[in-house]
Amino acid sequence: SREWLLLSRPHGWPQPSDFALRETEIPEPGPGQVVVRNLHLSVDPYMRGRMNAVKTYVDPYELDRPMLGGAVGEVVASRDEGVEVGDHVLHFLGWREYAVFDASHAVKVDPGLAPLSTYLGVLGMTGLTAYAGLLRVAALQEGDTVFVSGAAGAVGSQVGQIARLKGAGRVIGSAGSDEKVRLLTEEYGFDAAFNYKNGPVHEQLKAAAPDGVDVYFDNVGGDHLEAAIGSLNRDGRIAICGAISVYNDTEASPGPRNLARLIQTRGRIQGFLVGDHYDLQPEFVQEVGGWVRSGELKYRETVVHGIENTLEAFLGVLRGDNTGKMIVTLDS
Ligand code: NDP
Repeated sequence: SREWLLLSRPHGWPQPSDFALRETEIPEPGPGQVVVRNLHLSVDPYMRGRMNAVKTYVDPYELDRPMLGGAVGEVVASRDEGVEVGDHVLHFLGWREYAVFDASHAVKVDPGLAPLSTYLGVLGMTGLTAYAGLLRVAALQEGDTVFVSGAAGAVGSQVGQIARLKGAGRVIGSAGSDEKVRLLTEEYGFDAAFNYKNGPVHEQLKAAAPDGVDVYFDNVGGDHLEAAIGSLNRDGRIAICGAISVYNDTEASPGPRNLARLIQTRGRIQGFLVGDHYDLQPEFVQEVGGWVRSGELKYRETVVHGIENTLEAFLGVLRGDNTGKMIVTLDS
């Protein structure tokens, strides 16, 4: 069995030398434990933060220890009465081929209801992030003009589509390639989209949202956030979900220069963590699961194969190689 370790804390962009893929024995399960063969691993932007020595809402990854992350796998041995060999479970010991842990930390998932990888994406953590952030934190109202950055990614592509399905007046997205922009308008039903690499964000946003923005769902930070404040309408709401444009910065970047616009607009900026919103999970699964089944909400996954390519897949998320959720699939 192989697993990824963090050897040193990256400075700026993570380097392959900060990590190692190590061979290890599969331990025997203790009482109440299960052994899971991982089938799909999640690699996510927040993992960059956990590589730093700073404790945030979660402890940093420990050095010389296996990395952690969301994963879905098949139970291959069980010493717990509630879990059987052959069950599929969602758990948190990703970045490795086999995981051994207390069965109480496993959430059963049904491959008959949805493809297993979707429990990491459209029906999983990133999906709930979009749902809770847009509907609860940004308090979407019918008729709102919604702007979302990182709009072709896992969270962003779902934010835009949920906004449309919930009656937003106009949905605008930004993404990092012309191909992603086409996907947003041609397949996902965004009213307008732009490639932030093609020109200043504030100019492109003004053109796409001539009447301003009521909700901004921020996945990116930096110039996107400043542009959204600049276009914010009266009583506008900004949900700070992520700030991927600064995750690899080695020095703090200056904040938005136009915060004073919040006074005249009576605008509100609120950060949030998906972990605080799991009470919405049943509603989320029912509503979004229904839209996925009916085809009203579309999703893509970018799949990288093989445990040895997990680090590359993670770096790919930071670079923008992915469209929709980035998944590492371990073929047996
Ligand atoms: P994505 O699938 O959106 O992947 C990240 C994307 O970010 C890339 O595909 C890339 O797309 C884009 N990106 C990278 N660098 C930049 C940059 N400098 N400027 C603009 N865009 C950039 O990831 P997720 O959907 O998993 O996460 C999206 C955001 O949500 C992240 O910021 C993440 O940290 C945050 N998040 C927050 C949670 C919370 O609880 N608050 C929970 C889950 C996620 P492109 O080609 O368009 O540049």
